[in-house]
Amino acid sequence: MLSKRRTKRDFSSLFASALFFLVLLAGARGFAWPSCLNCNVILISLDTVAAARLGVYGGSSKVSPSIDAFAASARTYKSAYSTSAWTLPAHAAMLTGFFPWRLGVNGEVDPLPHDTPLLAERLKAAGYLTGARSSGYYVTRHHGFHRGFDSFVKNEDRKKWRDGAWIVDQATSFLNLNRQKKFFLFLHSFHAHAPFTPTEKARESVDSGYKGKIQSMPSKDLIRLTVGKDVATVEDQDRIRALYDAGINELDSELARLFKSIKDLGLDRNTVVVITSDHGEGLGGHGLWGYHAVNVYDELVRVPLIVKAPQVAAKTIESPVSLIDIVPTLLSILKIAPGTSFDGVVLPDEDDASSASRSVFAATSVSPDVLSHWAASAEKPRPSKQGPPYIRTTPGRRLGVSEQMVRSGSHKLILKFDRSFELYDLSKDPGEIKNIYSEPSKIGEHLKSLLLGGKSSLGTSQD
Ligand SMILES: [Zn+2]
Repeated sequence: MLSKRRTKRDFSSLFASALFFLVLLAGARGFAWPSCLNCNVILISLDTVAAARLGVYGGSSKVSPSIDAFAASARTYKSAYSTSAWTLPAHAAMLTGFFPWRLGVNGEVDPLPHDTPLLAERLKAAGYLTGARSSGYYVTRHHGFHRGFDSFVKNEDRKKWRDGAWIVDQATSFLNLNRQKKFFLFLHSFHAHAPFTPTEKARESVDSGYKGKIQSMPSKDLIRLTVGKDVATVEDQDRIRALYDAGINELDSELARLFKSIKDLGLDRNTVVVITSDHGEGLGGHGLWGYHAVNVYDELVRVPLIVKAPQVAAKTIESPVSLIDIVPTLLSILKIAPGTSFDGVVLPDEDDASSASRSVFAATSVSPDVLSHWAASAEKPRPSKQGPPYIRTTPGRRLGVSEQMVRSGSHKLILKFDRSFELYDLSKDPGEIKNIYSEPSKIGEHLKSLLLGGKSSLGTSQD
């Protein structure tokens, strides 16, 4: 696996990574989940849902009551990170257990490598019936995400981009048809993705007090705000965030139907359900509106991660974790031998010294330079058949110049595209406003050594 592409330097980094994670695993206490032999799996990826906007993560209780209620009987990871700030590399990591830059999935033309099995391939080999229902860009047959699925149904209708009803209808049909079988169902909803065009009902649900004129935010208006062609008042900025929240609220309402189906069919007794997202969204933090991909601040890379499994008590975990942990965790719960070591580890079931000191990494090779391209295309929209907006990344097997982050404890170090560093103490500064990198600190040096030293294999990509 992966061996054909490794350079000598990659191997030394890999060894360091493997050693690091073995030490982590050996030292970890309580990394045990009750086994759930032959249990079903439903993995739900809610594209572009930032953790901080959900009620269970400290957002308004009006936004996501169904997800919040789901989380009340599940394990909720409060400091979960994607490995990237955009769809393709984030899902590659989520569905393999490996860092995307180790897979060579960095640019928009990069397919999934054939020598690394996807979760669906692993579960199909273990006798599971496998199904996927997906919307939007990147999680496609073209990129190889269909591998291992008995059925891979893609929503190709851009008019159904806000797909909450479609995806839940698809899911409930699958469950009704296959409830007696051992199955894996993967759902990927694009409902919360920009443009922010929620229904009046959803707008009123989350933001009934607004007196201004903004009722929706098309992509061209969001990009004009980002590049400074428009300016929004504080009240209007709150409104734009509320419109995003309203999209999540619409999706949440549909998910209530799915949760009810799972219970009504008795599947809650033998099904592991995971809810997560691939990345967050620019909601004004650091000047970005309605876009993601171009930096690794928490607004874009901190995601929800909620795991509900039979015989597992509800709990909240604060320790940093990563999307690369989902595959090893599911295989551990199902007692399926992985036959390999992953970049990810089994999710902790409690906060202790070992889990709290975990280092998590993310990177993106999508430069903020693309914003001007997006601005141009938003001013002069292209036909949808031409595909997604132009993303200028380094295609192929190397990460190239990128923005990278590592978090350990409450501190987070960012290596910017211009090769400068930023350091934040998220316990005091969750918005990542006050860069304390210039202040002498041991933690800053420690995080720098992690980022550059190869424990994530990011150290091979500083060129
Ligand atoms: Zn996405």
